Amino acid sequence: MPFRSLGLNEAILKAVQETGYTEPTPIQSSAIPFVLARRDLIGIAQTGTGKTAAFTLPILSVLSTAPSRGIRALVIAPTRELVVQIEENVRVYAKHLPLTVATIYGGVSEKPQIKALEHGVDLVVATPGRLLDIIRGREKAFAGIEFLVLDEADRMLDMGFVPAIRQIVRLLPRKRQTLFFSATLSREIEKLTGEFLHEPETVEIGRRSNPAETVAQAVYEITPHLKVPLLQHLLQHDHLSMVLVFTRTKHGADKIAKRLIAAGITTATIHSNRSQNQRLRALTEFKEGKVRVLVATDIAARGIDVDGISHVINFDFPPNHEDYVHRIGRTGRAKSAGDAISFVTREDEDALRALERFTRRSVPRLKAEGFDYNAASHPREEGRGPGAGSRRPARKPGEIRTPRHDSVQGPQQPRHAHFSERKKSGKPREATQSGEVKNAPKKGSFGRFLGFGRKG
Ligand code: AMP
Repeated sequence: MPFRSLGLNEAILKAVQETGYTEPTPIQSSAIPFVLARRDLIGIAQTGTGKTAAFTLPILSVLSTAPSRGIRALVIAPTRELVVQIEENVRVYAKHLPLTVATIYGGVSEKPQIKALEHGVDLVVATPGRLLDIIRGREKAFAGIEFLVLDEADRMLDMGFVPAIRQIVRLLPRKRQTLFFSATLSREIEKLTGEFLHEPETVEIGRRSNPAETVAQAVYEITPHLKVPLLQHLLQHDHLSMVLVFTRTKHGADKIAKRLIAAGITTATIHSNRSQNQRLRALTEFKEGKVRVLVATDIAARGIDVDGISHVINFDFPPNHEDYVHRIGRTGRAKSAGDAISFVTREDEDALRALERFTRRSVPRLKAEGFDYNAASHPREEGRGPGAGSRRPARKPGEIRTPRHDSVQGPQQPRHAHFSERKKSGKPREATQSGEVKNAPKKGSFGRFLGFGRKG
């Protein structure tokens, strides 16, 4: 289906074409006609499915039909990074339209944000906390709202923003169109949709909470003190070109970054202890390829929309599967392929099994070729500096080295393959009750986790 058949404004079609999109993604082709028909909408879609354009394009299209008269659309998103990225998208799609956009988020001065509101912009993108601070006493500026978008609503719920959102929504006109996006549809989320939406249409892309289909996943079983050496070992491979590493804590993120930088690997961090400017700089450097590795905590990474992330590495395995889904959704965005690697310690085994039950898919366990797993018995050596743990053990007489591929470990069978291979077979790969996967790939296909075997 071409974009042209969706009923969007010509100026927007031109901008979309210039962006290089050839056809709408499934969430876009399902959601855009409903938004243009002025219906409330629940969009259940994972990150990376093109949901930002799914709401931005039709809103801009509607706004462009009438002259500006104050704020007409309000988008609320959980993090500053996501707000900035939605704004970037709006500016790209609206470049041939006389529409204006402003952002509102904490950590920076309120003054320019208030000025922008008072000046009157067409579209505001905001985080809930700062918006609530600013909106009080300025309700009038929001009296002409036609569109309210709640983006990544499940995350806003997790982050405790629901009371703030309720207060904001109470200050907005009742007669409005509300669009609600979430990666998951839990009972709590359903309750919220009942509160904020009026006779909504629902569009759901893919199975609920299933990790993005374009992401190939694998696990390395490892003891905690060997995680950094294993990370350095994997980073010896150039194909890990743009790597997003997730840690559980801010402190952990800083520690890893320090070790990688000491090893000569360009690295930046993004977490909530860093100032807004530091976070944006880290993100920009990562986007521009000035740093190869970005180490992030979950909340800070929420809004990261960077094309071309080659690998997401769960340095710390996330305890809940929603976070896993969101994390791995940072790679394999839109139609590109991506890899997700998880380091799993003994303590993470239950969480991994729970994830596999939830997604009904087993994740293959890999063993890093040439990595010194025996260093496990020498934990004090962990901090020996650049290249720690990555030195290869001496070749035993007669040993044949296979440096090119990581092997699938022990009794585990390869159970997941790269997207393109699944596409080739034309059949989705499914885990059977016994945990086996039909159409399992050949062993060599896992070489791509280290970048080898990648075609083109
Ligand atoms: P989102 O799910 O909104 O975060 O979008 C994920 C990525 O997909 C972004 O980098 C968008 O620029 C890109 N994207 C959105 N729509 C399309 C499309 N129709 N074709 C190709 N890429 C797209």
